[in-house]
Amino acid sequence: MRYLMPTYVYTPEGLRSDLTVAIDEQGFIAAITPTVSHAASEGEVLPNMALLPGFVNVHSHVFQRALRGHTHRPLSRQDTFWTWRRAMYAEAQRLTPEILYEMALHTYREMLAAGYTTVGEFHYVHHQANGQPYRAPNAMAAALLAAAQDVGIRVVLLMAAYAQSGFAQPPSVEQKRFCDASVDAYLERVDALRTTGVAVGLAPHSVRAVPELWFRRIAEYSREHQLPLHVHADEQVSEIEQCLTAYGCRPIELLARFDALCHLTTVVHATHAEMNEISLLARGQSRVCVCPTTEGDLGDGIAPYADLLAAAIPLTIGSDSNTRLDPVEELRWAEYSARMRYQRRRVLVADETAAPGPLLLSYGTQQGAQALGLPTTGQIAVGMRADFVALDLTHAALRGWTAQDLLDVLFFGASAQVIVQTWVQGKRVWER
Ligand SMILES: [Zn+2]
Repeated sequence: MRYLMPTYVYTPEGLRSDLTVAIDEQGFIAAITPTVSHAASEGEVLPNMALLPGFVNVHSHVFQRALRGHTHRPLSRQDTFWTWRRAMYAEAQRLTPEILYEMALHTYREMLAAGYTTVGEFHYVHHQANGQPYRAPNAMAAALLAAAQDVGIRVVLLMAAYAQSGFAQPPSVEQKRFCDASVDAYLERVDALRTTGVAVGLAPHSVRAVPELWFRRIAEYSREHQLPLHVHADEQVSEIEQCLTAYGCRPIELLARFDALCHLTTVVHATHAEMNEISLLARGQSRVCVCPTTEGDLGDGIAPYADLLAAAIPLTIGSDSNTRLDPVEELRWAEYSARMRYQRRRVLVADETAAPGPLLLSYGTQQGAQALGLPTTGQIAVGMRADFVALDLTHAALRGWTAQDLLDVLFFGASAQVIVQTWVQGKRVWER
């Protein structure tokens, strides 16, 4: 047993002082008890630190980290999501398992330093550049898993299915390495990972990239094995227009038609979701993952935060393109962009008398864990995995904090810079 004695701990009951967190051999929290003075010799004192649950990054495409800066200079006369995507495809073309491993190693380290203890890796570059599978069909997935293991971050591998470039259009040359020959071939690769104990999820890329038959089979598989299902939807207006032309309905409406909306589903972005789509998400008890820094960078738009909240749809966050890795900033921009959309303050709150901090933290931790099918992370409580970040309470950015407003001081006045330690399953995996 290992004992940690931070100055404060954020428990489901709020911020508490003078508590000792006992961690068992498997890295789970065995007890949280009042610190008694003689106990200090048995444990590790974390002076002037507050332990918060580790942040959960629900949506990452790790290799896109390589585009940071390089896609911020002009790519064409008028840059959009689609001109950015051309640059992203060029980067995807040069990946090999060795290059992907190196990129993931550095980027996952950067995630730990930012306070992310779990990452949902939405993995879609599966095959060789010409589209042929590697000799080991999951060679690219194996590279990601090896990097995560070597760095010490928990990864849930969201295996992307990709079949076409648009509604009933064959894949382009660059997309071939994302595609499996059939839905059976895709599910075989998922099965090979699942049955060897890898934490996996299903990720039909989007309604434009995956046809109906595939969607139905993948959703069935997700329900059969109770695995998370993640899908991009409503990020760009042109995707919605194409969907309306092909099916006469909007992307989230199409997901409902394909039986792909349930409590296992997380819709990534939902930037342009309309009221009927939001009602369908609520009825299915599905979640939404917003990626505010990426959505800002790519000019996607601002999600209908207030409507999602009113429909009681849980939100989660993702670093997506990994241009910026900072959960504090991601959550601040969720609230700030909501304020700009609705022209009022304090949008993401549990009720009208509440401050935003606690709800933002739950989006960044507990809700993210649920979206990745991990019921034992996201909170500091007995029986949960010991996944923490430690804040430096003496940091200049936090000066003036009180036990009542620490989370709001963090989310509105600080950044991941105030995080000085990151713990995954009882191990300190990063320290400033
Ligand atoms: Zn994405």
